[in-house]
Amino acid sequence: MADSPLPSSAAARPPHRIHMHAADNVAIVANDGGLKAGATFADGLVLVDNVPQGHKVSLTDLAEGDAVVRYNVPIGYALKAIPRGSWVHERLLRMPAARELEGLPIATVKPPAQAPLEGYTFEGYRNLDGSVGTRNILAITQTVQCVAGVVDFAVQRIKAELLPKYPNVDDVVGLSHSYGCGVAIDAPDAVIPIRTLRNISLNPNFGGEVMVISLGCEKLQPERLLPPGSIALVDERNVADIGETANAKLDVVCLQDDAHVGFMSMIDSIMRQAEEHLERLNARRRETVPASELVVGVQCGGSDAFSGVTANPAVGFCTDLLVRAGATVMFSEVTEVRDGIDQLTSRATTPEVAEAMIREMAWYDAYLDRGRVDRSANTTPGNKKGGLSNIVEKAMGSIVKSGSAPISGVVSPGEKARQKGLLYAATPASDFICGTLQLAAGMNLHVFTTGRGTPYGLAEVPVIKVATRSDLARRWHDLMDVNAGRIADGDATIEDVGWEMFRLMLDVASGRKKTWAEQWKLHNALVLFNPAPVT
Ligand code: CA
Repeated sequence: MADSPLPSSAAARPPHRIHMHAADNVAIVANDGGLKAGATFADGLVLVDNVPQGHKVSLTDLAEGDAVVRYNVPIGYALKAIPRGSWVHERLLRMPAARELEGLPIATVKPPAQAPLEGYTFEGYRNLDGSVGTRNILAITQTVQCVAGVVDFAVQRIKAELLPKYPNVDDVVGLSHSYGCGVAIDAPDAVIPIRTLRNISLNPNFGGEVMVISLGCEKLQPERLLPPGSIALVDERNVADIGETANAKLDVVCLQDDAHVGFMSMIDSIMRQAEEHLERLNARRRETVPASELVVGVQCGGSDAFSGVTANPAVGFCTDLLVRAGATVMFSEVTEVRDGIDQLTSRATTPEVAEAMIREMAWYDAYLDRGRVDRSANTTPGNKKGGLSNIVEKAMGSIVKSGSAPISGVVSPGEKARQKGLLYAATPASDFICGTLQLAAGMNLHVFTTGRGTPYGLAEVPVIKVATRSDLARRWHDLMDVNAGRIADGDATIEDVGWEMFRLMLDVASGRKKTWAEQWKLHNALVLFNPAPVT
């Protein structure tokens, strides 16, 4: 069989294009490898150019200045006449201006109430504050980057020498980051990185076992990172354990403490403290909890023109299922929703929620403006190669991850989500920063869609990765957890893949299944959003 050709079922498919809305005057070529000039679609449309996969073909003759419409939205204006059957790429388009933040529709859309989805459960770790973990992890909080090497060293020893004695603990993770000193810590925007670190330490997957490694002389002192009120979770447990009414002290190992003589004494201190937390974590057991305890962060990265056709709509369907089940779902990525702000403000449950979204967008517009760029700085060479002409087109495909439910809350960068339902967590679109901020918001499960492909993963929560195309899912068969490309192939519906994700989430949350990123231990760094100056 060695001389037989590669399976060519995909290549042999007749010319196939995908059209998102009846009003659209472009569609994207779905065939693997794209199509050559002269290819003829079933309805007689003939390509006049070679068109790569995921790229747009004009369905009508467009005159100079005509709107190019996809998702029923003008994604650009033709810079010259574009005959029917042409490849419509970014060099042929002028991008529309961003929508003004005044005069937006406010809470005008009242989606019909969806029937509650009852009876779905998973096996999770119930925390004292009521949150639920999907993993049982010892996290080691760090006040400053200076201690990161020492913590890394200690984590290796803890994994090798202590973890085997505590089989119910999944992992030990050092929460290293680039903040803590050399920064303008009193600048107003410094609140963002500081509360991000605080709230990550309190993520439900860490069971309230906060231990802190501090250098001693850094600007971000332990009590500033975790003031007494913020660790009520730890206090309560310690009070119950030791029978005292006084607040328990924050567990801090300070490397500059006079008691430390030599590097090994620092490592010994860290290991001694770690063991106390491991003992308590090890005593925990999973229990059956309703699906409403899921806190799911959704985002996309390495997007292509299929993201908004396959994976993101399937995530959107799944988002609706999760909201119906009473869970929390966060969608994010400011620059990828900015062009659809009117869709979001109209879906807000109250005027206050809409106003909060507008405030976040205005803050981000000003932030970008300070750097003399705008939302169009978002798109990457890979996005364009994948067929996305500009940020407007990318945003329309990104927003669909939010499904159709009403938007019931807004989470500012680094804040903790404090309610259930569909929430807009205002974060940059940067994959690592978005993931870091969703961790701070309290996510216990992460869903990540990709068209170009990314091996992204986090040590702190399971990351379910969804491929937008079957070609990617085949090549990256041991990195992608779900293949939404079957939607473009005509082998599955958006609803099929949405339900598949929903069920997979319950399995992954329960620890019954591991994601590929968990299997290979692919752990991206925490990357803080620090809009404040460094010194
Ligand atoms: Ca992203």
